[in-house]
Amino acid sequence: MKNTKTALYLKDWEYDLENISILKSLGQVILPSEFELDMKDFIFCPLCYTPITRNPLIKDVTSNGRQATFRHLPTYGDIKCPLSSLSSTGQKYANEEEAKQAIDQGDLVIIHGFLHASERNRNESENNEYHPDIEDIDGPLSSVPISRYKGETFELPSQITTVRGICRNFSKNYYKYYFMLSSNQPTMLCDLIHDIRDVTKENDTPQLY
Ligand SMILES: [Zn+2]
Repeated sequence: MKNTKTALYLKDWEYDLENISILKSLGQVILPSEFELDMKDFIFCPLCYTPITRNPLIKDVTSNGRQATFRHLPTYGDIKCPLSSLSSTGQKYANEEEAKQAIDQGDLVIIHGFLHASERNRNESENNEYHPDIEDIDGPLSSVPISRYKGETFELPSQITTVRGICRNFSKNYYKYYFMLSSNQPTMLCDLIHDIRDVTKENDTPQLY
């Protein structure tokens, strides 16, 4: 069962599909390192909102040396959650409409490229205006191979963004699917980011850290 890297903590909330908006608006995003024992019965999955647990409950590393994470409970195994299914690393869509809808709802972002400092400066000098807050701009329609059917591509609006644009609202973006034109499938940001502590050798492919 796949682990979750963050949890929503809300004291006294009980799992109830009709009250999810309360958890979403009042729940506090916590990391395994921020967990305290009295939160034990009040931590929930940030995507399916079922109660989850921390593994191990108190220690920072498991008996086989892994960092503590949050984990789904088998009791709620029949509730489908992108974070607990094994196929969660890649997301594919049945048709162009479905993919567009995911973009409109903010669940999927097509990254055309990253906005470099030089381009930001060029934009500024062309307009004679300074836009310190430009973090992402609309990119061109891009052919994106994220269909469930092999060989089919969708024409989808893309974004040109900055790392700062991704970092703003980080906890919200953490479970969005990102598709980079250099990759082959949309991947959740939480699976795209590499922990610098795990880096052992140089890698020629650009990655997020
Ligand atoms: Zn879940």
